[in-house]
Amino acid sequence: MKSLNDNVKVLKGVGDRKISILQSLGIETIYDLLYYFPFRYEDLMVKSLDEIIGQEKTVISGVVASEPVVSRFGYKKSRVNVRLLVDNESIMVTFFNQPWMKEKFNTGEQVQVYGKWDQNRRSLTGMKVLNLKDEDDTVDSIYSVNKNIRQSTLKTLIKQAYDEYIDVIYDYLPDNLIKKYKLVHEKQLIKGMHFPDSVEETENARRTAKFREFFLFECGMQNIKNINEISKAGISLNYDREIIKEFINSLPFELTNDQKKVTQEILDNMNSSKHMNRLLQGDVGSGKTIIATIALFAAVTAGYQAALMVPTEILAEQHFNKIFKMLSPYNVTVDLLVGSLSIKKRTEKIENLKNGKTNIIIGTHALIQKDVKYKNLGLGIIDEQHRFGVQQRKELRLKGENSDILAMTATPIPRTLAITTYGDMSLSIIKELPKGRLPVETYWLRTNKLEQLYRFVKRELQNNSQIFVVTPLISESEKIDLINAEEIYEKFQKIYGQDYKVSLLHGQMNSQEKDEIMSDFEKKNIDILVSTTVIEVGVDIPNASVMVIFDANRFGLSQLHQLRGRVGRGDKQSYCILIADPKNEIAIERMRIMTESNDGFKLAQKDLELRGQGDLLGSQQSGLPNFKVGNPVTDFNVLQIAQQEAQIIFEMDPYLDNDNHKMIKSYLERKMKSAGNFD
Ligand code: ADP
Ligand code: MG
Repeated sequence: MKSLNDNVKVLKGVGDRKISILQSLGIETIYDLLYYFPFRYEDLMVKSLDEIIGQEKTVISGVVASEPVVSRFGYKKSRVNVRLLVDNESIMVTFFNQPWMKEKFNTGEQVQVYGKWDQNRRSLTGMKVLNLKDEDDTVDSIYSVNKNIRQSTLKTLIKQAYDEYIDVIYDYLPDNLIKKYKLVHEKQLIKGMHFPDSVEETENARRTAKFREFFLFECGMQNIKNINEISKAGISLNYDREIIKEFINSLPFELTNDQKKVTQEILDNMNSSKHMNRLLQGDVGSGKTIIATIALFAAVTAGYQAALMVPTEILAEQHFNKIFKMLSPYNVTVDLLVGSLSIKKRTEKIENLKNGKTNIIIGTHALIQKDVKYKNLGLGIIDEQHRFGVQQRKELRLKGENSDILAMTATPIPRTLAITTYGDMSLSIIKELPKGRLPVETYWLRTNKLEQLYRFVKRELQNNSQIFVVTPLISESEKIDLINAEEIYEKFQKIYGQDYKVSLLHGQMNSQEKDEIMSDFEKKNIDILVSTTVIEVGVDIPNASVMVIFDANRFGLSQLHQLRGRVGRGDKQSYCILIADPKNEIAIERMRIMTESNDGFKLAQKDLELRGQGDLLGSQQSGLPNFKVGNPVTDFNVLQIAQQEAQIIFEMDPYLDNDNHKMIKSYLERKMKSAGNFD
């Protein structure tokens, strides 16, 4: 029997090569193909010549006045010229490198051509020949494809899939919601998204697609919440209040009020028999590490093991050093587990976890690998939560008997969104930064002003500061014309190398090399650290007070904010210098916002507004799910309604047994199986 879960190979013309090309677009099944929506539409309304303004893309309609002429130049280059009579004017239409276009023009016939108009020459660079029934306005769907597959090929495949599978396209949305919100049924949705006959049809389809996307997402959230409710019973960590109090009092600083408040929330939650599933949100530099340390220690005083999982080895190492130093005096054994250990060392560490010799383990993904077993894991903390998925949170939890979980994130999510997207978690928020912090001053320079940067860096070095210099990629990893780390390193070496120590750190180094460099930087043996974004998250070096970011326009705002957060951690005035030559208005606006705002929440919001969804860096960094059609900021009201409707359904039918909900159920089952990941 046919099913949308069928592999795309059932389609005509799809062999091994196509399969792998489609896979690179994330398409494996008929379902994937049908729901691979266009990212934009072109308005294909025919315009008369005097309606066209300047150089715009447009459709003209005319009669073919002469046989098309093909000229070829060298290898693969060609030009097709054809004259059309449009509104009594003879217009030259040229197609570059599409010799087959010749076939589409027969003298005397009426045709419509889409292309770019040149007002001065009164000619058109043709892009495609259309097949419009009448001169009604219509739209054309545009897909994001790569160089291995053409728009038209993809569209043909989608059409084939649609025609052959139309009978097994079922509604995901319950009927009452379709009626209530005047949405369209699934078949119309797919047709309207891919092959609309009118602008109105696309709009209805898009409206439905947005709602559907948010709704299914929110159903996922409700489902996770359900599962958590079911496994509500947690461990009651009866920690030693006296020791924890003593520890807090012995810290070199006083906790801020917000830190005190969230510490209490977390400890209470750990102490109760209710399972903890909590998100700790606080802007960069707000002091989350110490909160984590307190919680880890508390779990140990309650007789349990505790784990801290972080996204990079550098960060693991740094947390380990700090926490080791703080807790060793209390006879707590702290250990480090990362991917790059010798087998012997690893075996030893795993053994100590299993027999309970290790109280606190700090590490990367290595902590949740299959063969890593704990004696009694009571608490798992995930730092930089946005770098991990729900699945990994779950794996850590299951390393104990439903261990308490604390996820920490520096990437701020607008609160309203946090509630809808992290709906399954309790929330603790730190708003206030430790006292005495001066906001980082941010400047933006174009590359022709680098002399200014060099003078500034010199002055800061004389002030005894340490400098971070960040470059996006190292040579060879990609061919985009980025100034690469090595080149920048050499430049800094040349300028400052005589008097100061300049070092280079990049992702291709092994972890021992990285550790050595980081610890040299920490010990102030290095003055300027040139690095790729391996230092992006979490690293804490209070004496560093300048962050220089090259090609800053290649980063998302949240990511820039993270990087900037590496400085401004001591009581010195710190600076962030963005080097960028933005080419368009939005990019300029982004640089401007960075120089004006230090508020991570505001930046995250702006990032979403400016970059929209579906942007790799942007969405990953924002910690938000990657919505394809809807934008959780601009379509926030739709998201809210979708959430309410999802809630209602789960209240009435928590196991989705009702026939109207069976497609939702199958969707969630599929999701859970494939990625197990809703964010
Ligand atoms: P983040 O929230 O970004 O993870 P960290 O935990 O790395 O921030 O803390 C940033 C710096 O602030 C660290 O050097 C830490 O020791 C220091 N810090 C944390 N809390 C306080 C406080 N209450 N007063 C002064 N400094 C603090
Ligand atoms: Mg941190």
